[in-house]
Amino acid sequence: MEPLIKVRNIRKIYRMGEERVIALDDISLDIFRGDIVCFLGTPGSGKSTFLNMVAGLEKPTRGEIYIGGVPIHKLNEEQITLFRQKNIGFIFQAYHLMPMLTAEENVMMPLIFRNVPNKERKRLAHEALEQVGLKGYEKRKPTQMSGGQQQRVGIARALVGSPKIIFADEPTGNLDSNTTKEVMELIIREVKEKGQTLIIVTHDRSIAEYATKIVTIQDGNIISIQDKERPAEEAQAK
Ligand code: ADP
Ligand code: MG
Repeated sequence: MEPLIKVRNIRKIYRMGEERVIALDDISLDIFRGDIVCFLGTPGSGKSTFLNMVAGLEKPTRGEIYIGGVPIHKLNEEQITLFRQKNIGFIFQAYHLMPMLTAEENVMMPLIFRNVPNKERKRLAHEALEQVGLKGYEKRKPTQMSGGQQQRVGIARALVGSPKIIFADEPTGNLDSNTTKEVMELIIREVKEKGQTLIIVTHDRSIAEYATKIVTIQDGNIISIQDKERPAEEAQAK
């Protein structure tokens, strides 16, 4: 089976004046359709940098990234934006909701970019909010909701219109342990139901129990890959 996401020897160096920070050293990885991948590592290990490269938010210094055969590293700004809007949902630690917009309007945002007609946008947004347990909250603004509720809106926004791939950067980083469990179970249930592929990065070890594949990153390198479904392929880690 061809991997859905193929990462080959990516490296990312940030230059700050005279200083060079090697955020990612040399990372290669295969991710398959339906995988639930947890990237584990201490703060500063390169997790967000990795996610941003694969989502096309930043370009690697060198190396190759393919998603469904598309060379992400070669696309220009416009091509990558279109690709992302069509194929990728993103869940952020700090929710990144638009404060002036209601829950319903926030969830409809990605559909505007995908040219979904207004009526259908509303229907899909309501459906997504119901799926995350927020039926009746459609007209609330983010400030009128708890952190857990805001992250549920963030999840509804990432899931709406069923993108193939969901990226989540410390999605439970601002939540208490009970809410973390609720939010994780919700994400996993939705992703499994639709057969989506999920990549979640976190420093929280308890998140790893939800994953089919646990990738540990340290100082910009993968130091181990534990694949619960394909143990034989662990040898691909380098
Ligand atoms: P994590 O998400 O695991 O906490 P990051 O990917 O954010 O780690 O950061 C990895 C390393 O790269 C850190 O040393 C960080 O300071 C550095 N870094 C990240 N982004 C930038 C940037 N835009 N400019 C300079 N250094 C950066
Ligand atoms: Mg980070």
